[in-house]
Amino acid sequence: MADTFTLKGGEFLISETPKNLVFTPEEFSEEHKMIAELTASFVDQEVVPHLDEIDKLKEGLLAGIMKKAGEQGLLSVAIPEEYGGMEVDKTTSIIVAENTGKGASFAVSLGAHTGIGTLPILYFGTEEQKQKYIPKLSTGEWLGAYALTEAGSGSDALGAKSKAVKSADGKSWILDGEKMWITNAGFADVFIVFAKVDGEHFTGFIIERNDPGVSLGAEEKKMGIKGSSTRVVKMDNCIIPLDRVLGEVGKGHKIAFNILNVGRFKLGASTLGASKYVQTEAIKYANERKQFGVAISTFGAMQHKIAEMAIRNYVGNSMLYRTAGLLDMATAGKKATTPEGAEAVLKGIEEFAVECSILKIAGSEILDYVADEGVQILGGYGFSAEYPMDRPYRDSRINRIFEGTNEINRLLIPGMLLKRAMKGQLNLMGPAMAVQGELMSIGGLEEGTGELFEVEKKVLAGAKKVFLMCAGFGVQKYMDKIADEQEIMMNIADIIIDIYGMESALIRTEKRIEKEGLDKCGHLVDAVSVYVNDSVERITANAKNAIASMTDGDELKMLLSGLKRFMRWTPINTRDARRRIAKRQIESGKYDM
Ligand SMILES: Cc1cc2nc3c(=O)[nH]c(=O)nc-3n(C[C@H](O)[C@H](O)[C@H](O)COP(=O)(O)OP(=O)(O)OC[C@H]3O[C@@H](n4cnc5c(N)ncnc54)[C@H](O)[C@@H]3O)c2cc1C
Repeated sequence: MADTFTLKGGEFLISETPKNLVFTPEEFSEEHKMIAELTASFVDQEVVPHLDEIDKLKEGLLAGIMKKAGEQGLLSVAIPEEYGGMEVDKTTSIIVAENTGKGASFAVSLGAHTGIGTLPILYFGTEEQKQKYIPKLSTGEWLGAYALTEAGSGSDALGAKSKAVKSADGKSWILDGEKMWITNAGFADVFIVFAKVDGEHFTGFIIERNDPGVSLGAEEKKMGIKGSSTRVVKMDNCIIPLDRVLGEVGKGHKIAFNILNVGRFKLGASTLGASKYVQTEAIKYANERKQFGVAISTFGAMQHKIAEMAIRNYVGNSMLYRTAGLLDMATAGKKATTPEGAEAVLKGIEEFAVECSILKIAGSEILDYVADEGVQILGGYGFSAEYPMDRPYRDSRINRIFEGTNEINRLLIPGMLLKRAMKGQLNLMGPAMAVQGELMSIGGLEEGTGELFEVEKKVLAGAKKVFLMCAGFGVQKYMDKIADEQEIMMNIADIIIDIYGMESALIRTEKRIEKEGLDKCGHLVDAVSVYVNDSVERITANAKNAIASMTDGDELKMLLSGLKRFMRWTPINTRDARRRIAKRQIESGKYDM
């Protein structure tokens, strides 16, 4: 598959994606299945029994579990063998992240360590830095953290005030500043920090816990993920050797932004893992709890929620592993053991930065929905700390904030696509012009073939036209100032997310029908149809908001009539479809899609 791989990031918006380029969880190898099982049983045995104590920040507990995870190889899946790792594919890292999702604060800690805490050295470090740090980070002997944010600079990360200067004898760097909200700070041995050389050139550095001038603030008192260590990291006349600079002076932004792509994608995985677990807990309760003489899972209102959880989890998972497959294809045969190799891997990941942001938003918002409705299904018990919904509900909320807030990620999605189009890396403008031409023509009604998913595919193709219509019109109107029209950018981002969701779930389901037969996939067909049905409403609303904000009069009328034509759809019986989906989940007693 890698040889014939030609897909570009964001290309799904302008063309049909060939089925064979959409990876699905049903295609996991034996190794993938083994690592999934290993991670899940590690979390069940070593993490879940201790969640309350972890949340109370019991001294040494979480760090000890992280080290045990290292012994099991769970910290080294993304590390080349040369540095003591397993170097397996990106899908494996995503499988590990997904299966840690149930582990609450442990998942946050592991994600920070293996992603943003380790990968900057692997991708940007010198050979000496890699040899010194990576083997220890990959076994858990040392634990890592990533310190970008400051009290005054969060989303605007490059506005950092931390400073680095060379010592008078030219032999050391001297760092001063305070980093805020640093995950794993309480037990990390190694910190990736960012400071401005001479107050000007944003640069990455590696500092160690025992370096002179490094100290920590108290643990933050947080709403959720209470077990993960979050502290201020202070650098007060922190003196480190010259060779601790990471990458080039003045090129820290390359590290900060590239690494966040991976962080975002992994967050998508862990949130979706958590979400499936939360759904299962909600179903178990709904099956046991009796009101009015029957299990509450027999009520339509509860079935609606259970089905909706299943649909969103299925769509999220379809997007997740499709993206994992894309990253694997884009990085196949490339190895971060040389600077050129590392650059090639990063380029492969960056190609799909839009998809990584989509996963971050989708995963965090799916989990928020599922955790919120999970509380609702448990009623008063959902509000009790003695029952399993209180922790996921509180823990879930942070995911929309860190690794780039969901607003920042939403702005990035169309922003990055338009930049790529302007650089000639993605042909958005040609298809956008074609759609404009279509707006002027009179569309006829095509004969139907009656094939499965025929109408869903038609409206999916129409949704891509709606995206091209809104983005194309926006660029014509605002040119490079479109980024300042944030409300329109958000509308466009939401249209894009729905398109990726619809297409990923649809293609995965087609592949499953081919393999498993239609009889076994009725609930999946229902899930795709309901998701498409609801996406049509959302896309239409987003497009209406966008175009009515951009124009009026005859031009608005023309765009609205195009929108109506592209989004032609007869509502389906979502009540019955959801009941069928819910029935399957209720009978299985778990997420079963
Ligand atoms: C528990 C926790 C753990 C964390 N772990 C780490 C870590 O390990 N390392 C690390 O470096 N950081 C970490 N962070 C920091 C986190 O990444 C930031 O909190 C986040 O990036 C947002 O920054 P901020 O809090 O300063 O909010 P702000 O940037 O002030 O944002 C506030 C609001 O304004 C919006 N906003 C900001 N800029 C724009 C814009 N240009 N356009 C539109 N809207 C905008 C945001 O979306 C948000 O809704 C952590 C934070 C928490 C709470």
